Amino acid sequence: MKINSFDIDGVIYFGEGTTGVRPGKDDIIITGRPFTDREATVKMLESRGIYNTLYMNPLKRKIPDYRITHGQKDNPLYGRKASGIFKGQMINMLKDLGVEIQMHFEDDPIQIKEIQKRCPDVSIVHLKRDNEERVKY
Ligand SMILES: [Mg+2]
Repeated sequence: MKINSFDIDGVIYFGEGTTGVRPGKDDIIITGRPFTDREATVKMLESRGIYNTLYMNPLKRKIPDYRITHGQKDNPLYGRKASGIFKGQMINMLKDLGVEIQMHFEDDPIQIKEIQKRCPDVSIVHLKRDNEERVKY
């Protein structure tokens, strides 16, 4: 079975009140958004009538800061490169499980590089925009 995969921000999502690219019936979504954002992300997708399987980044944006009680700091590992590594690994894991991704829709050149390194057989559809007015990388 060959399907396509879609990033969220800059592909499906361009902010409230704007429509983006929509995945097909059996396609999947692979986002760099952390798993801790699952509830809000599912809510946003469902409000657009999108119910596709959703795979989320296992890294958190914030991690505990033990210097401060109940403190948090930015996770130095979380970022665009890590998101690309995650997506490439996810695509390869799905392939090992018999789900082949034919095309991945992505807007971030940094992530595209990481996915291409790991998944040379996947065609990347690079969505380019002329500014970051609606959504940032
Ligand atoms: Mg994106």
